[in-house]
Amino acid sequence: MSMQNSKASVLIVEDEPDISEVIRYNLSRAGYRVRNTLDGEEGLIMIKEEKPDVLILDWMLPSVSGLEICRALRRQKDTRDIGIIMLTARGEELDRVQGLESGADDYISKPFSPAELVARVASVLRRSKPVTSQEALMYADIEMDLTTFRVKRSGRYISLGPTEYRLLRHFLENPKRVYSREQLLDAVWGPDIVVEARTVDVHIRRLRKALNSENGADLIRTVRSAGYALEKPLS
Ligand code: CA
Repeated sequence: MSMQNSKASVLIVEDEPDISEVIRYNLSRAGYRVRNTLDGEEGLIMIKEEKPDVLILDWMLPSVSGLEICRALRRQKDTRDIGIIMLTARGEELDRVQGLESGADDYISKPFSPAELVARVASVLRRSKPVTSQEALMYADIEMDLTTFRVKRSGRYISLGPTEYRLLRHFLENPKRVYSREQLLDAVWGPDIVVEARTVDVHIRRLRKALNSENGADLIRTVRSAGYALEKPLS
């Protein structure tokens, strides 16, 4: 993989060539990998070819409108997390309400300064970073939906308290790894929280009870004097 691939990528969909070029020039200079197109439909194809980190989308486009593109991207699982900055012309203020509902992350009214746009791109990237692009975690017959916070075991919903949810999430992100109580406290409660190590045992017990409520195999392995792991029992 080349160095280039580590740069954040931006796609510009804007039908006014001069504006598109100014944006392209400034974002390239700011270190982004930039592609651009004047056409909405081509933009959608380019997104399929390679998902951008940020999309700069003009509101008024000839073939398919920015609003439609925005809605379509938010509907699809694999494009839902693209940061979208909508460009609106003067006089389109009314439509901004509609735009907000469509799910854009930010708006810039024309005319705008290139410096402002570069700053907004950086801000959208910062905000979208902690959001995992992953929608679900799975191990054995456990499924955790990270968007709805619901957990299923063997296809049936189980109810978990917030701490048990975070514990399970940590295990699902690192299955089969044994964690000591101290490591779990750090990872799940945070390093600054003072809790007794025994507290971990209490929450592990609750998690185990919730997970096993449907008589499934016990997936939490207790490793004597070492800690716990999420692991399928040897059969
Ligand atoms: Ca336009």
